[in-house]
Amino acid sequence: MVSRKSEPLAQDDRTYTYEGECEHRAWVEVDRWAIANNVKQIRHLLSPETRLMAVIKADAYGHGAVSVAKIVSEIGVDDFAVATIPEGIELRRLGIQQPILVLGAVHTSDEIKAIAHWGLQPTLCTPTQALLFSETLQSIKRSLPVQLNIDTGMSRLGTWWEQALEFVQLVRGLPNLEISGIYSHFATADIRDRTIMDQQHWRFQQVLAQIQEHTTLFSIPTVKPCLHLANSAATLTDPALHYDMVRVGLSLYGLYPAPHLRSVVNLQPAMSIRARVTQIKTIEAGCGVSYGYKFIAKQKTPIAVVGIGYADGVPRHLSNQMKVLIRGQFVPQIGAITMDQLMLDVTAIPDLQVGEVVTLLGSDRHHSISADDWAEQLGTISWEILCGFKHRLPRILIN
Ligand SMILES: *Cc1c(COP(=O)(O)O)cnc(C)c1O
Repeated sequence: MVSRKSEPLAQDDRTYTYEGECEHRAWVEVDRWAIANNVKQIRHLLSPETRLMAVIKADAYGHGAVSVAKIVSEIGVDDFAVATIPEGIELRRLGIQQPILVLGAVHTSDEIKAIAHWGLQPTLCTPTQALLFSETLQSIKRSLPVQLNIDTGMSRLGTWWEQALEFVQLVRGLPNLEISGIYSHFATADIRDRTIMDQQHWRFQQVLAQIQEHTTLFSIPTVKPCLHLANSAATLTDPALHYDMVRVGLSLYGLYPAPHLRSVVNLQPAMSIRARVTQIKTIEAGCGVSYGYKFIAKQKTPIAVVGIGYADGVPRHLSNQMKVLIRGQFVPQIGAITMDQLMLDVTAIPDLQVGEVVTLLGSDRHHSISADDWAEQLGTISWEILCGFKHRLPRILIN
């Protein structure tokens, strides 16, 4: 990828959020081609009947849910998942037609009415919720497909697997509810040791066997609930975990849940973070840079100020430790990262100009910096890095 100095940045695109024609100080670049590639790569692992659910919660992990939904719905993603009701409404407002599962729990009748109004699919986690759903739906004379979350060992949402049969029987007996899905979620699918994942899978299988034995839920093919279990890591690990549908988040955006899964598919990161040089100056030896003088120049040093900071989501913990790319070359960041800007030592690029593009994450010519690099430096996970970029940064679609 070349620096985009003279190239207009998709200014006619609908994601263009600026008033007027001014150049962006900093932006999140989202590569349509990369997302399409990742969908195809993941599809390739699935049997033809297996549905692919795109998990686009948290504004599609920071990429922009509306854009991502449009891109992937055109290339054949079957279902969507979001975390909250407003996230689901945003997609419906923009005309997304596919089923949208709300992964988060719902516990008020106002939320239930919103779900019914916007045609979202709720997750039912407890008998109490199921009763409230049924009552509320009866009061507005609606019925709704619902999905049941079974806790097989994540200890987050859902009914504990040993009570799952009772839960299913209760929901089946309630008016205005129709079970359209049954699912569970893995706690450790991204580590190599499969012990816990296999235990969770075994519990899921037990639940399904009990339902099969004690109810008629699975006997009518037209209403058989969609069974699903796999996140990105489980999807890449084992086809036996795919069931009727896989729920893929991270890998859709081009990142691997774990290094040992790199050999399975060829994913391309879709997100790049770019910003522009806003001022260039030369500081003398002994001169400190930024708050707290975490950097003191050892010699006369040309430095560049860049218009992006921690209020945009660049972690302040990376201060004085990160490298960025300019014209395909690594350049060190120096001093504390401030709210809206950060500084670079640009000794390596003597003819640097104001307005040139700096790549904080993503590729620039032959080099790239990934969310995994930052995650490792910060002791966190790439999921958190992707979700960390604020809405002050416009999302610009490329390719
Ligand atoms: C977020 C989430 C996913 C997607 O997980 P990835 O690891 O990003 O693929 C799948 N299922 C549930 C229930 C989730 O909350």
